[in-house]
Amino acid sequence: MSDSFDVIVIGGGPAGYPAAIRAAQNKLSVACIDEWKNRDGSSAFGGTCLNAGCIPSKALLESSELYHRALHEFAAHGVTLDGVGFDVAAMQKRKGGIVRQMTQGILTLFKGAGVTALTGHGRLLADKKVEFTGHDGAKRTLQAKHVVLASGSEPMALRGVAFDGERIVDSWGALEFGEVPKRLCVIGAGVIGLELGSVWRRLGSETVMLEALEQFLPMADSQLSKEAARHFKKQGLDIRLGAKVSSATVKPDGVHVGYTDAKGAQTLVVDRLIVAIGRRPFTKDLLGDGTGVALDERGFVQVDEQCRTAAADVWAVGDCVRGPMLAHKGKEEGVAVADLIAGHYGHVNYKVIPSVIYTAPEIAWVGQTEEQAKAAGRSTKIGSFPFAASGRAKAMEAGAGFCKVVADAGTDEILGIHIIGPMAGELIAEAVLAMEYSASSEDLQRTIHAHPTLSEAVHEAALAADKRAIDIPNR
Ligand code: FAD
Ligand code: NAD
Repeated sequence: MSDSFDVIVIGGGPAGYPAAIRAAQNKLSVACIDEWKNRDGSSAFGGTCLNAGCIPSKALLESSELYHRALHEFAAHGVTLDGVGFDVAAMQKRKGGIVRQMTQGILTLFKGAGVTALTGHGRLLADKKVEFTGHDGAKRTLQAKHVVLASGSEPMALRGVAFDGERIVDSWGALEFGEVPKRLCVIGAGVIGLELGSVWRRLGSETVMLEALEQFLPMADSQLSKEAARHFKKQGLDIRLGAKVSSATVKPDGVHVGYTDAKGAQTLVVDRLIVAIGRRPFTKDLLGDGTGVALDERGFVQVDEQCRTAAADVWAVGDCVRGPMLAHKGKEEGVAVADLIAGHYGHVNYKVIPSVIYTAPEIAWVGQTEEQAKAAGRSTKIGSFPFAASGRAKAMEAGAGFCKVVADAGTDEILGIHIIGPMAGELIAEAVLAMEYSASSEDLQRTIHAHPTLSEAVHEAALAADKRAIDIPNR
């Protein structure tokens, strides 16, 4: 095998592996180095997303939601069951099978595209040399014309709360529980907290979420946050805002979590504690001396709009650089960089990155919230449509939530679309496409939506922005 490549990608997660594949599609010679090791010691491409994030969490969300619906919704459909149960081991086995299939699929993709897959550690040296240390300890120095850093992120730890991998865990640990904790506490009511809290709550855990901020889901449109909080409360998620955790101690009767809120010092005793307070860039031993690559004050690799680092022909993408820590954002950056390296056009539209929270109801949005649009000085018009008025949603027994369109009152440009309700994560794709093409609300209004579909809610919300909705009264 050659030690020289046009492109070496360090990190094979959802930012790195697409960069490698697109670079190979662009007829460049490519190696992708990844050091991920699973609990059983096996190596796997796919990074956090495929091994311990997006995919396993969605597998467990789906299984637990099916159980929840069998318990609480089937009867409304007239479906009767003679006892409903679940088997955590079977759910975990299914999850593990999906993860294995998806991660092994990357190796097949690499083979098809002609990418050299190297499992082990990569360290950038000066002059675009890369030191590769295989999992067997053998070292080789590789030379690249371009290097793409895609080393991802890791969970943040909380002072006074030490992970023990058993009772006090991060998100990966929370995806591996072998049984349902009777009493569960999650620190952080963000995306991970809500998704993983939902999984275990649906399976029966008494779940308390301790959130430091006074406001729930501040990044979402405030109407969505309010609606979400209402549903989560009904589902039994005990979300305590303004709760500042100071300690967690494992004792024989459980984990004692110490926190303060408006009422003073509190202690909560639980069987398991999940810490989900955000993630930080992972760049441990990534950069040797004299690379010229700079990190910012929070540890992110510094890049420009096109993901160029301070060192010539060294690029960085995904969670290790600024911007939302989302797999699809990293993927687009990886692909754009691989195109730019090949001299093609490459671009990421950072204004149009969708966010999805895979709870029930699902939450999804793209663009500006109503509050952000107003704060930016835009005069807005708003159209909303409740799923309770959607025939398809009613047929699905999923009438909770709504779709909200925020448009500029003068130009009619769509500024943001916000959805809480069934399949919101799928419905948002139409909104993303509309905004990518700078659509007006009238463009959406004049687009035919199949009946009866959930997507009619997006159509009707756009119509409502001009008080022309058909299926709800216009106010
Ligand atoms: P990573 O996926 O972290 O991959 C980086 C890879 O590089 C890893 O394999 C790492 O081992 C390897 N690496 C690091 N340094 C080196 C080195 N020096 N040498 C060799 N290899 C190295 N995002 C979504 O968009 N949707 C979701 O539904 C979603 N769900 C999530 C659920 C959970 C529980 C978690 C934790 C995250 C979730 N995310 C989700 C976030 C998503 O996982 C990340 O945004 C995404 O994985 C970032 O991709 P990346 O390639 O930048 O980094
Ligand atoms: P997050 O930023 O979404 O939420 C962390 C929450 O913890 C925040 O609400 C924050 O206020 C709170 N917090 C911080 N410090 C705290 C403290 N000391 N005590 C109590 N609360 C505290 O981060 P996350 O949920 O850990 O997720 C990490 C990243 O992974 C996010 O950037 C997210 O985008 C990504 N992710 C995405 C998805 C998805 O797209 N569906 C799913 C999971 C994770």
